[in-house]
Amino acid sequence: MLHCANHTSCVAEALQNAESICKERGVRFTNIRRKVLQMLWKHHSPAKAYDILDTLSKEDVSARPPTVYRALDFLQENGLVHKINSLNAYVGCSHPLKHDDCYFLICEKCGEIEECCNHVLNDAIEATADKNKFCLKHINVEIEGTCQGCQA
Ligand SMILES: [Zn+2]
Ligand SMILES: [Zn+2]
Ligand SMILES: [Zn+2]
Repeated sequence: MLHCANHTSCVAEALQNAESICKERGVRFTNIRRKVLQMLWKHHSPAKAYDILDTLSKEDVSARPPTVYRALDFLQENGLVHKINSLNAYVGCSHPLKHDDCYFLICEKCGEIEECCNHVLNDAIEATADKNKFCLKHINVEIEGTCQGCQA
């Protein structure tokens, strides 16, 4: 478990951030985008696209796979969620726009994910890419292990 003292405020903050980012960029924070983001923020663990679709379609029969995938793409493009490739799942970003050097600590026991930022890691990866004349597109570091709460 993460050291999240008040998850209600986590969620409120995430939604508020999303709203102001969309406003700043002149893009619409539509109902479906909000719902998908809200669903991702239910826990600090990632959710798969079909789980989101499943939950959404229970309350809104018009929720179709393309709608949900488009909403996820939108949220990802705007830095509000991250895709965890090793799990093929999505997680809400806890500090959108404040980073581009994020990596993820994934707890194998509780499934929660902590997003951390450290440019040293990315600098090392960039240097390695340079050395190998490798053209870097995107860095995504996912680290598996056991979180503090699950070690007891
Ligand atoms: Zn929380
Ligand atoms: Zn992030
Ligand atoms: Zn854990």
